[in-house]
Amino acid sequence: MANGMKSSRESALIGLWRWLSWTAVSALALAGMMLAAVSLPARLKLIGLFSLALGLTAGWVVGKIAHWRRIHHPRRLFPAATLLIAAALAGMTAESFRQWQISRDAELQAELRKSVGMRLLGPDLIDDFVQDQGTFEDYLAHRYSALVDLSRLSFPSSTRHFWWLLGIEIVAGSLAGGVISSRMVVGKFCESCGSWHEPKQSQVVEPITGNRCLELLSADQSVSLPNDAHLLLEFSTCRRGPEIPSVRCVLDRPGEAARVIVESQPDRATYDQLGLLLDEPIGTR
Ligand SMILES: [Zn+2]
Repeated sequence: MANGMKSSRESALIGLWRWLSWTAVSALALAGMMLAAVSLPARLKLIGLFSLALGLTAGWVVGKIAHWRRIHHPRRLFPAATLLIAAALAGMTAESFRQWQISRDAELQAELRKSVGMRLLGPDLIDDFVQDQGTFEDYLAHRYSALVDLSRLSFPSSTRHFWWLLGIEIVAGSLAGGVISSRMVVGKFCESCGSWHEPKQSQVVEPITGNRCLELLSADQSVSLPNDAHLLLEFSTCRRGPEIPSVRCVLDRPGEAARVIVESQPDRATYDQLGLLLDEPIGTR
């Protein structure tokens, strides 16, 4: 009993450590990525699409880090990654604003220095006058100016709409990234040795054989294949796993997304029976 409690506390600590290290490494990676993205030429930053592409890339990056840190809870990773990517996109917007403000100030200064009246005031006064002239709302108007031009319709270019556009960009980009990252940790994970299952082999079987396999592997006898479907059997083992691989049964039907219907860790007898059904001894190919 005491032993069991200790191990559950240990596994909670391991879990915490995985999440903390994922957060730290991901935050660093995203910060670097966003700083690099800010310096890309403005022409590349197509409205909306850029944030979406960046969100997807960020999702792939934090998904890779999660897989490496052995985070195996897609449903927990989705909100965590979405929030982290949203923060990164917001940070990138803030940095873009800051750089836009600097270059705008410089332009304004150069222009004012040329004008005769301002030249009398002296450069220091001009600098003071120009300091941080552009507001964030001016920046947004600049950011979406191409969209206003493109639409050619009477696009309602009020400040409120620009805030909405910015919000939609960030939300869509981060949700897309969240989905990508969580898809990257759906693989089977072994809690006891802390490793991802590695695929050994897979085999596609006809519906009749497939249904026999399902009868053998599934506790729920009502699971069966439609006539036009195939069953894909995926065998995998963890690093220090038992000799007998675990089996994932994927329903593959034309026009439908493949989905896992049964996951099973068969015993020796069941596994041997499965080998007979499949006509060839498994694990020799
Ligand atoms: Zn294991």
